[in-house]
Amino acid sequence: MSRHILIAGASVAGNTIAWWLGRAGFDVTVVERAPAFRDGGQNIDVRGVGRDVMRRMGLERAALDHGTGEEGTAWVEADGRVAAAFPADGTDGPTAEMEILRGDLARLLYDAAREHSTYRFGDRIADIGQDGTGATVTFASGLVERYDAVIIAEGVGSATRALVFPGENRSRWMNLTIAYFTIPRMPDDDRMWRWYNAPGGRSVSLRPDRHGTARAMLSVQQPPGGEQDWDADRQKSWLRERFAGAGWQTDRVLAGMADTDDFYFDVLRQVRMPRWSAGRVALTGDAAWCATPIAGYGTTLAITGAYVLAAELIRTADVPTAFAAYEQAMRPMVEDAQGVPTIAPRLANPHSRPGIRLLHAVLNVASRPVVRRVTGKLFGGRSKDVDLSRYDDHPSGGKQVEPRGRPGGGGVPIVALGGVGVIAFVAWRRASARAAGRTGPKSGGMKR
Ligand SMILES: Cc1cc2nc3c(=O)[nH]c(=O)nc-3n(C[C@H](O)[C@H](O)[C@H](O)COP(=O)(O)OP(=O)(O)OC[C@H]3O[C@@H](n4cnc5c(N)ncnc54)[C@H](O)[C@@H]3O)c2cc1C
Repeated sequence: MSRHILIAGASVAGNTIAWWLGRAGFDVTVVERAPAFRDGGQNIDVRGVGRDVMRRMGLERAALDHGTGEEGTAWVEADGRVAAAFPADGTDGPTAEMEILRGDLARLLYDAAREHSTYRFGDRIADIGQDGTGATVTFASGLVERYDAVIIAEGVGSATRALVFPGENRSRWMNLTIAYFTIPRMPDDDRMWRWYNAPGGRSVSLRPDRHGTARAMLSVQQPPGGEQDWDADRQKSWLRERFAGAGWQTDRVLAGMADTDDFYFDVLRQVRMPRWSAGRVALTGDAAWCATPIAGYGTTLAITGAYVLAAELIRTADVPTAFAAYEQAMRPMVEDAQGVPTIAPRLANPHSRPGIRLLHAVLNVASRPVVRRVTGKLFGGRSKDVDLSRYDDHPSGGKQVEPRGRPGGGGVPIVALGGVGVIAFVAWRRASARAAGRTGPKSGGMKR
């Protein structure tokens, strides 16, 4: 007998799980609060085990073909000079091999999933009642329906999570406020991700896309102040004030922000839930464990978690047992990705000019070819990634997987880069000092 599944949220996680369950013969309904499919959002990447899931879905090639065409990452000075550059080399560096706009990735997944699932836009869950055999869902539209399982993939601010798991989310604030938006492309824009640091913990960055526009980011390193609850006009005027006179291309970015119709603003916080399911209701994606963009792994986690949850539901008829197996498989990977030290945003967004100079010096050392051979390994998969081979023998399509090397010890991109850069920087200073001591005058004075 086919099982009735409700998924709330039609983005990366929701569409991935709808694809797997719909294709396996489940009766799947996806409810999305927005009135239509949402194509917004900026550059995200899929790495390591997330790439394996895309390959299992037969969508890896399409996702690469829809990539942003970013050719690398460069930190720049106020006059545009490059302080450190990491050209893309076909592996996962700061610019991953699979760089894609959130909307393009979600659209690929949605187009594939809707062949097997029913989508209902402009509605949301208002109430869920549960008993031993299923969940009765009342929608805001007034509709009442019965399901075997309900999956919440509503993102970081999930309202249904608050309904089913009241008071359980112990948010971890990351002391970073970010805005992403689309602005017009200029003739001399190239295809690098350009990142500019201004004093006061401010960053401005510009990235290419394949739609003839440029993707801008503004971020401020500071404690949270409730800005996520303001309306977009107030958020924009706050950004205008904070970034006035910041230098580089900031004036152009602020001018573009005024006219953009694609404005995403968030005060970054991790979602930390002691459990991801209650009876017949499970959380997945950012709604369960948002790691924030600082982790550089949110989309990979969303795709992988959705796959694991679907695979467990496909192989186990008992819903709570499947949910428990999903949580057991995903916890180590999620906790590893969430282990971003809160100092990370501060290191990536120095407040003083000397701090910016030091960051650039460290990144410059980390960008040298000999050091990059080490840093390259830090951006791919991670050692705690879930081992998908456990699903190779069931109908979730494991046979399509081509062998990949075991993931390396990846970490938070900027911290990983900074860490290796610091080590290389210190080693380089010591070597220079030794060389100076050998070749310089034997003064007996202090070494530099
Ligand atoms: C419009 C948009 C733009 C984004 N832009 C960026 C970006 O620029 N950079 C970045 O790093 N990350 C961005 N993200 C977040 C990124 O997509 C996620 O971090 C990651 O991919 C995990 O995806 P998810 O499916 O778990 O959650 P999300 O991608 O956040 O999707 C959640 C979905 O649930 C829907 N939803 C919310 N509440 C309800 C409800 N009560 N009932 C039904 N549906 C609901 C939302 O409309 C959305 O479609 C964006 C997300 C969205 C929705």
